[in-house]
Amino acid sequence: MLSVPKESNEVLPQNFFMAQAVTGKGCFDSYLAKIGRRETASCRCSRNIDETPQHVLEECPLYAKDRPAQLNIAESSTRNYLINTVKTLWKLEREDRRRHE
Ligand SMILES: [Zn+2]
Repeated sequence: MLSVPKESNEVLPQNFFMAQAVTGKGCFDSYLAKIGRRETASCRCSRNIDETPQHVLEECPLYAKDRPAQLNIAESSTRNYLINTVKTLWKLEREDRRRHE
C-alpha cells in the first residue's frame, strides 16, 4: 500500500493524524473493532468491506475527494489528504459514539 520513502524521517512531520494514517492505528474501524471499541470493522460504504487504511486511503468512494492520483508521502498533497481523511474519520467516530450514548 502506502509507500514510505527511506528518508521518511526527514519528510514525515511528527503529526498525530499522519502517524495514524501510516500505522493504521487510532481511527480506522478495522483497528477499533480489534481493540473492542467498535462492533464491526466494516467501512461506512459497504458492510462487506473492512475499513482498513488501504481501503480508505486508496479505494473508498467516501473519501475520494481530494485524493491524489498517486499517494506519495513525500508530496504535500498526499500528506494533506492523509491528515484530512484521518480527521474526518475521527469526526465520524465521535458522531457515532454520541449517537449510541
Ligand atoms: Zn469504504
